[in-house]
Amino acid sequence: MIYYKTAAEIERIRESALIVSKTLGMLASEIKPGVTTSHLDKLAEAFIHDHGAEPGFLGLYGFPNTLCTSPNGGVVHGIPNAEPLAEGDILSVDCGVRKDGFCGDQAYTFEVGEVAPALRHLLQVTRECLYKGIAAFRAGNRTGDVGHAIQKHAEDHGYSVVRELVGHGLGRKMHEDPQLPNYGKCGRGKKLREGLVAAIEPMVNSGTEKVERSEDGWTIKTSDGKASAHFEHDVAIVNGKPEILSSFTYVRHALGIKSDGSAPFDSEMPSSTAT
Ligand code: MG
Ligand code: MG
Repeated sequence: MIYYKTAAEIERIRESALIVSKTLGMLASEIKPGVTTSHLDKLAEAFIHDHGAEPGFLGLYGFPNTLCTSPNGGVVHGIPNAEPLAEGDILSVDCGVRKDGFCGDQAYTFEVGEVAPALRHLLQVTRECLYKGIAAFRAGNRTGDVGHAIQKHAEDHGYSVVRELVGHGLGRKMHEDPQLPNYGKCGRGKKLREGLVAAIEPMVNSGTEKVERSEDGWTIKTSDGKASAHFEHDVAIVNGKPEILSSFTYVRHALGIKSDGSAPFDSEMPSSTAT
């Protein structure tokens, strides 16, 4: 069952989404060689509490931490651990919060120190996939239009999209209907309507699309061990068009990145932080 949100509900989801965005921005300054993901997890948990919210993943389906941290061939759902990050790694960080009964959910793949050009290209294309998907997230389109836009851009660059994990509706629950696969056919799937809020989250692999679950029961990794990237925004359909509720502005600020392809979506820039 799909719950379409009122303008007031969308504002509350935006509040939660921006707390996640700020958390990712804080982490962006901390992610460097030698740092452990369990350290990042503790920082994030304290930061979220300091902002009047609760970690949204901690305890969700039994997940043990605040962050999902998935380095290199990790796709999603990695458990933070005591292994230090190494120069040249990439690290996907997925974070959720809950505040006043509404959820935010956002992911970003970070570079650890100096990263090989081929990996940087994977991150760039995955970010572009995210914005292609968002552009297709509008009233009258269908979920297949979003998936198709993401899949086509990834495959045009020789990458593959993960099939087993999907984007999703977002609201009082972290995962609501409809599912938003990162692949699909135009004109297929559920129709998108005013008031729909969803987490759009391409997971793009440099090698095979196939993934498997690790022995820890959580971590999803690529079957061939090749790198995977993950970027996620929370998006509402307002006046028929996509409005990004989360923001990478805080991450961009921390990393000194001027532009990442979000330019067509000006509402992504909260006025208080836009530069
Ligand atoms: Mg997420
Ligand atoms: Mg999500």
